[in-house]
Amino acid sequence: MKRKEFLKTSGLIIASSMIGSCQGKVKKEKEVETRRSALRLSTTIYELQLRQAWTLSRGTWNTRRNVLVRLEKDGVVAYGESAPIPRYNESAESNQEFIQRALPVLERDLWEYQDRWRELEALAPGQNAAKAALDMAIMDWVAKSLGIPLYRFFGLDRNNTLPTTFSIGIDTAEVMQKTAQSVPAFRRLKIKAGVPDDKKHIEGIREVTDRPLVVDANEGWKDRQQALEMINWMAERGVEFVEQPMPADNLEDLRWLKERVKIPIMADESVHKIQDVPALASAFHGINIKLMKCGGLQEALRLVAVARAHGLKLMIGCMIESSLAIAAATTLTPLFDYADLDGNILINNDPFRGLTLEGDRWLLTDKPGLGVEPVIPEW
Ligand code: MG
Repeated sequence: MKRKEFLKTSGLIIASSMIGSCQGKVKKEKEVETRRSALRLSTTIYELQLRQAWTLSRGTWNTRRNVLVRLEKDGVVAYGESAPIPRYNESAESNQEFIQRALPVLERDLWEYQDRWRELEALAPGQNAAKAALDMAIMDWVAKSLGIPLYRFFGLDRNNTLPTTFSIGIDTAEVMQKTAQSVPAFRRLKIKAGVPDDKKHIEGIREVTDRPLVVDANEGWKDRQQALEMINWMAERGVEFVEQPMPADNLEDLRWLKERVKIPIMADESVHKIQDVPALASAFHGINIKLMKCGGLQEALRLVAVARAHGLKLMIGCMIESSLAIAAATTLTPLFDYADLDGNILINNDPFRGLTLEGDRWLLTDKPGLGVEPVIPEW
């Protein structure tokens, strides 16, 4: 694809100190470079095309609009990605706006990355996917500046990364059955639920495979008796755990449920930051940490420590994301019990390359930083 076509389709926006001016941006950008010779930041909204319609209990999507970040400082180029979460009032535009506002933070010393994250967090509440993109770019930059892969910077062994589940969105029982059959390499399947046909879907999948299943209800069951009946019915059909069976803020019913279920229940929509964890320990057996939800790699590491201190199981999940964000999350999987990192498998126009799937495990390379490279021309 030629640069001009790419700009037309993806809407490249240069975000640097000249933000707010579309006129003469190339000239102004050069001025910024000369003055500081340190930082160049650009963002682009990139539309990920899903291989097939993606349906959850709360909606259906054919595309997702993520924001890609390119950060260049002292000759080192680093990347970040946000997958905005509409449930938390995020869009590609609101994420991009936050990233542009964060420019003064990024102009400071990136080696003091913990301070930079605190400053990003203080800049505005929410917009955690945007914070995740910037934190990802900062950590990629730090590891690349040291010439080492990010997993080595975190003291983790790439041979210990976890296999990922493969997620099957809500569809007809026949389509879900076919999807389950089409991915034999995945030893554990994640089934989306929270709709009236849940039992039909699970029975259909059980006709074609005896692999372990995990189920994600995405807050879809509103009544605790119904949730309890569904979870214990699923327990008898080889479901290992159920994610977010009931609405996130209904901790009273979730506590009631935890005392009665035969398999673990995991928090997803209920958990964002470390301060959420203590109250969740009595309502769930574990938590699903996502970079986009918590605000990045640094907060994910803190969540791991706090959740473990409360005796919780840990899974790491994702949104619909490219190989860039999946590589970042994969880096942390040695610290987790389960990984659900398949967002990039569900799309057909991945803007990054360098992450290889071996069976159902992502292979991290020995390249510095996150180890993936953009395939977008001249970006
Ligand atoms: Mg979930």
